[in-house]
Amino acid sequence: MSRHYNFNAGPAVLPEVVLEQARDEMLEWRGCGASVLEVSHRSAGFQALAQDSEARLRRLLAIPDNYRVLFLQGGAQLQFSALPLNLLGATARADYVDTGIWSAKAIAEARRFGQVNVVASSETSGYTHIPPEQDWSRDSGAAYLYYTPNETIGGVEFQFVPDSGAVPLAADMTSSFLSRPLAVERFGAIIAGAQKNAGIAGLTLVIVRDDLLDRASPVTPLIMNYGLQAAAASMLNTAPTFAWYIADLVFKWLEAEGGMEALAERNRRKAEKLYAGIDASNFYANPVPAECRSWMNVPFTLADSILDEEFLRRSGEAGLMGLKGHRSVGGMRASLYNAMPESGVDALLDFMQDFERHQG
Ligand SMILES: *Cc1c(COP(=O)(O)O)cnc(C)c1O
Repeated sequence: MSRHYNFNAGPAVLPEVVLEQARDEMLEWRGCGASVLEVSHRSAGFQALAQDSEARLRRLLAIPDNYRVLFLQGGAQLQFSALPLNLLGATARADYVDTGIWSAKAIAEARRFGQVNVVASSETSGYTHIPPEQDWSRDSGAAYLYYTPNETIGGVEFQFVPDSGAVPLAADMTSSFLSRPLAVERFGAIIAGAQKNAGIAGLTLVIVRDDLLDRASPVTPLIMNYGLQAAAASMLNTAPTFAWYIADLVFKWLEAEGGMEALAERNRRKAEKLYAGIDASNFYANPVPAECRSWMNVPFTLADSILDEEFLRRSGEAGLMGLKGHRSVGGMRASLYNAMPESGVDALLDFMQDFERHQG
């Protein structure tokens, strides 16, 4: 069987050249006589990889010198607790924007550690839009303002960076990380699980401004402490070596593809094409207003949900996989991460038109 176009939301499609290189190097890596899976995270070889990959990520996103980059374990959801533990400080109050299931989970977790003020929520309207920034009821004394730039399940994406003023801005970028250029200097802290757009499960990236490294609550577990992990170059405990190695290959691929500007252009084009196809039909629908539609995750429904099973079966036969929507939203979802080629979107659109014709 050949490789399908993979629309899974995460873990998700990887660039084929990354998989090929990992395969070719699997038994023997960089002349060290063993697989990268078998060497110490403290070996000279792995230390070189760690430094190279951080330097490459810094180049890709133009990360300023006063930010630390951490390569951690535990997934994005461990950061839902690590972030408040590290940033709440003495005020113990934080502002959160509630735009979907991932922000709601982050809010529930932060409430274990401090007082959460939900500045705005789109829950009652089914998480299909972003409440206008001028209507947010913010607390000027908040330790940080938190939001989810791309809601992976609802397919809602901020096409702007909120203006948090003097309050540090924190973001869960798991599903949009590395999809476009990023003004890192606007943020206090960024968290991102790697398994959507930056690699595989097991690695979580944290980018945090230096001045926020010294306010962790005393009960913060050592492994979750940003300041201590920064001082230890993310190696307080065994680093997620294989996932880190894959991320390094992905970063190299991104550079070879022309970097963030080139990727953003391609991602915008892919998403616009798919939304245009959905909008042009009376059979498919997406509920999100144009100004906050996600470039990465495109949910859509069929005119009658009774056809969902048939759509999934036939799309699978046509070599299109992973289109089943999240159980909370239903319908379909096509995730269009960096490694999804434009030809995959074309193939999906062809299939959708064909399916619609035959349902009449
Ligand atoms: C997938 C996802 C998560 C969850 O990531 P885990 O690594 O499984 O904890 C969190 N936030 C967003 C925006 C996601 O897309």
